Amino acid sequence: MLTGIFSPTKCAECKLCCNFHRSSAWETPALEPADIFRMHEMCVPLTQKPDGTTSFYLDFRTENPDEVANCPLLDTCSGCILPRENRPFECRIWPLRIMRDASTLVIGIYEKCPALDIETFEKLGKHALENLLEPVLAYASRNPRAVRNYDTAYKIIWRQ
Ligand code: SF4
Ligand code: SF4
Repeated sequence: MLTGIFSPTKCAECKLCCNFHRSSAWETPALEPADIFRMHEMCVPLTQKPDGTTSFYLDFRTENPDEVANCPLLDTCSGCILPRENRPFECRIWPLRIMRDASTLVIGIYEKCPALDIETFEKLGKHALENLLEPVLAYASRNPRAVRNYDTAYKIIWRQ
C-alpha cells in the first residue's frame, strides 16, 4: 500500500517496526482471520493480546522492559519473510496508524520512522488521505478492538 513512498533500502537497514520492546509488545499488529490461517500453516507461534486481538508471539527471554524481541516473521538479514500483500494490515500501512482519540477516530503518522524526511512525510500524508482512507476505515470497522488509543508519537493527519 505504501510501495513507491519508502525506500526499501532504508527499511532493510532499520527494521524498527518489526521488533518490539517488552514494554511496547502491545503494539504488535492485530491479525485478521486470513493472517491467522496463514500463520498457523507456517507454524508461527501466536498469542492473545490484552485487547483481545490475536498477534504473533514474541520470545522475550528476561523480564527487562528494555529487552527487544523480533517478530517471528522477521529475517534479520532480508526483512519480513511474508510477501507484502500477505502481511498484516497494520504492517502494510505502517507508519500510518488509525487510533481512537476520545470518541473520534484519528489517523496519524509515526514521526520517528527514520525513513520520513519532510518530503516523504508530505507524500505519505497525501497518499493516505487520497487513497487509503477507505481501506483503513474498513479495517477499523472490521477490527474495532485493534484500534488503539491515540499516542502522541503520531502526528494526526486526519480526524473523523
Ligand atoms: S520504522 Fe520506518 S524506516 Fe524503519 S522499517 Fe519501519 S517503515 Fe521502514
Ligand atoms: S509481519 Fe512482517 S512486517 Fe509485520 S512486524 Fe512482522 S516482520 Fe514486520
